[in-house]
Amino acid sequence: MANERTLSIIKPDAVAKNVIGEIYTRFEKAGLTIVAAKMMHLTQEQAEGFYAEHKERPFFNDLVAFMTSGPAVVQVLEGEGAILKNRDLMGATNPKEADAGTIRADFASSIDANAVHGSDSAASAEREIAYFFNDSEICPRG
Ligand code: GDP
Ligand code: MG
Repeated sequence: MANERTLSIIKPDAVAKNVIGEIYTRFEKAGLTIVAAKMMHLTQEQAEGFYAEHKERPFFNDLVAFMTSGPAVVQVLEGEGAILKNRDLMGATNPKEADAGTIRADFASSIDANAVHGSDSAASAEREIAYFFNDSEICPRG
């Protein structure tokens, strides 16, 4: 499988629960490397632009309100098959359906407040990484 990069967000609910470190440990134990990271309190405009693909969905306003409700931590993960690997670590969108041991099963409380975001494809990863990071902010290890 190819070396890939994916965009991950620790959402405001997980930041509020003080589990940033526990989630980072899961990435690292799975062989993913954090090559860029920043904490940011998203503006309405940033959240709307990031989730533009969902703008016609009934939950869009709730999603934007939640994502702007407190600070989030945004990172780029790198590794073999990073996009799918991160989705596997995250678990299903609805934490009630997430497999035991996944981040959402362990830390999410609802389908809105579901702890993490992860890019769902190579095309999404490319767009989402560029949405938050300049090339100079990405620091790959040798
Ligand atoms: P993800 O890729 O697993 O995060 O899921 P999606 O891309 O389908 O949806 C983006 C985000 O919108 C999810 O992580 C949820 O926070 C939220 N969301 C998705 N579906 C629903 C829904 O049916 N109801 C509500 N309230 N929020 C949803
Ligand atoms: Mg998605």
